[in-house]
Amino acid sequence: MSKKPMTTAERKHIGRVKSFPCACCGRNFTSSAHHIREGQGMSQRASHWLVISLCYDCHQGPQGVHGDKTLMRIYKTDELDMLAKTIELLNG
Ligand SMILES: [Zn+2]
Ligand SMILES: [Zn+2]
Repeated sequence: MSKKPMTTAERKHIGRVKSFPCACCGRNFTSSAHHIREGQGMSQRASHWLVISLCYDCHQGPQGVHGDKTLMRIYKTDELDMLAKTIELLNG
């Protein structure tokens, strides 16, 4: 099973998303791109177009999206909500 290589357009899109502040807490430093529904037991990773920017804490931190999701509860958000915010920024 080979992964499809990222297209130039996808790479560009992820680069743009990574420049946004964290979609969860709004802090603006070293964002990384998170693929929504990633790590939820799906056999295939979500589309490269379905990415949101997250800071380290909200992404890989123990209370982040890949942790116990405490930060998402604190900021009253979920993956689709954060994706909507990202799309808004992309069109802003
Ligand atoms: Zn954050
Ligand atoms: Zn992630």
